[in-house]
Amino acid sequence: MKYLQESAIAGQAGNWRLCADKYIASIQVAPYDWQYRYNNFSGYCSIVNTERRFALNELENDIKNLKKVRDDENERKLLRAAASFHYGVLRLDMNKRESAARSYRLGLEIIDSLTESEKNSIHFFSDPLTMTMRNMSTKSIIEQRNIKSDLIMNLDILENPLTHSYKPDLNPRFRQDGTQIPRGPLKVNYLPTVSTDVNAVTSIAERMKVGGDKCDCCGKQNVKLFTCARCKMAYYCSHECQKNRWKDGHNKACRKPGQIMVGDYVKLRGLSSRPELNGNIVFVEGKVEDKENRWKVSDKGKGLLLSISVDNLARIRPEK
Ligand SMILES: [Zn+2]
Ligand SMILES: [Zn+2]
Repeated sequence: MKYLQESAIAGQAGNWRLCADKYIASIQVAPYDWQYRYNNFSGYCSIVNTERRFALNELENDIKNLKKVRDDENERKLLRAAASFHYGVLRLDMNKRESAARSYRLGLEIIDSLTESEKNSIHFFSDPLTMTMRNMSTKSIIEQRNIKSDLIMNLDILENPLTHSYKPDLNPRFRQDGTQIPRGPLKVNYLPTVSTDVNAVTSIAERMKVGGDKCDCCGKQNVKLFTCARCKMAYYCSHECQKNRWKDGHNKACRKPGQIMVGDYVKLRGLSSRPELNGNIVFVEGKVEDKENRWKVSDKGKGLLLSISVDNLARIRPEK
């Protein structure tokens, strides 16, 4: 219990880095008691993701920690499923949408692979509703902590940007100590507002999808897909499909992530001065003179014209 005590002391002193590090260290040294490890892992995920104690650029090791738990086939499925979710959310905030979607899908696969006896096995867990420790089944923990439903909802937002049913809660959120939780980039795609042309809107909407649920060339589903190594935005089932699509237009559309061009449709993200604009699709008009890495974006003549840093622009999937 050494780590738990050290972690609690660090948390009380407001040293959240140490607190999180002690929690995750306890996962590595205490394989003999996975219930204890699960509770500590939940504390860890709460600090790094739910409560957002750190800035995104301070999470490099945490990303690795979560991935390690998620991908460890000897690990308990409950920890792996939770790691899949928290990893996905952090990756999404880093604008790694494809990586987030993959993680959510993996989390759902892990939950679906639970056997009946695994689902019904009883463990001593902290109950999120009563904040006390009690015996609960794995199945009820997954339900009470919304692990499966959160995975489904977050994946739905990425796969079905125009039809998902998620409504963002824009009210301020607070931690137990009363401090406010900084808002991450909104995880919601808005309707494209840049065009009144129905075909253009439909096309943009289609490209807002994260992809990765079917081959971009032949449309095959439920097969192992790989991404285009350069843009990481195109998905294929075979090298033949990749070649066909390349000749069919991907050779013109494919660019390294972060490269923006005049004429692109891009999504605004991570704006702290105008957070209400995050998620909107805008049109790239041109470079801002004398400013490195800033672009003029507009809603195509309807009144909006902004100068935005490249870090706040996310390219949407290419048409081809
Ligand atoms: Zn294919
Ligand atoms: Zn590509």
